[in-house]
Amino acid sequence: MSRRGLLIILSSPSGAGKSTLAGLLRAWDDTLEFSVSATTRPPREGEQDGKDYFFVSAPEFQNLVSQGEMLEHALVFGNYYGSPKAPVKTAIDAGRDVLFDIDWQGAQQIKNSSLQEHVLSIFILPPSIKELHRRLVSRGQDAPEVIERRMQKSWDEISHWDGYDYVLINADLNTTEERLKTIISAERLRRSQQPDLMDHVRALQTEFGEMT
Ligand code: ADP
Ligand code: 5GP
Repeated sequence: MSRRGLLIILSSPSGAGKSTLAGLLRAWDDTLEFSVSATTRPPREGEQDGKDYFFVSAPEFQNLVSQGEMLEHALVFGNYYGSPKAPVKTAIDAGRDVLFDIDWQGAQQIKNSSLQEHVLSIFILPPSIKELHRRLVSRGQDAPEVIERRMQKSWDEISHWDGYDYVLINADLNTTEERLKTIISAERLRRSQQPDLMDHVRALQTEFGEMT
């Protein structure tokens, strides 16, 4: 039986663990497609263009937006970020799920789009603000002033926690990973994700009618 693809959105304040969790989910299920965002932010050490992000200039970004090629886009920490539309459409039409690591503004735009029926949104909370700070520092990829800016903005992101279908506290990484897998496995079985169910029920009805 065919299945529609889900748009699986992970959001959290920066440093709560969503990139780590997204990586674990992709290792768990290699059919899961990751939506590679375009951004005007400079690459961090080790980040690859086309894999982690499409690193573009501000004029290139504006051009993508004005051509209608973005499913959503937002200004986050002074840089533009956006999810290209075409790969998402191709994947979900073929029944493949797409994983998004995006902020609350992007999540809201996708939830208000024509694809809202297929959205599964999950918010990741840190166990404490102190631990969030520790994780940002231990990641070792941002300058102290960038970390401070992200900490200051963390409440803005956390304050949107109640707009999501599921909310997980990422204390122990293995526990959060297992919970995410449980949520995704169950959501894949939702009635709205199974377009062939109606045909199956009709066939059962015909068979039932023939018996009686
Ligand atoms: P985000 O993508 O939300 O900004 P990351 O996935 O980059 O966050 O995680 C930030 C840091 O915290 C990384 O160094 C990561 O290894 C670490 N981390 C993630 N989840 C946990 C956890 N449950 N316990 C301890 N450290 C974690
Ligand atoms: P980072 O610079 O740490 O990779 O990402 C900063 C923030 O931007 C994170 O909250 C991340 O989820 C968000 N982000 C990344 N890509 C996108 C995107 O395509 N759209 C939106 N709206 N946010 C994004």
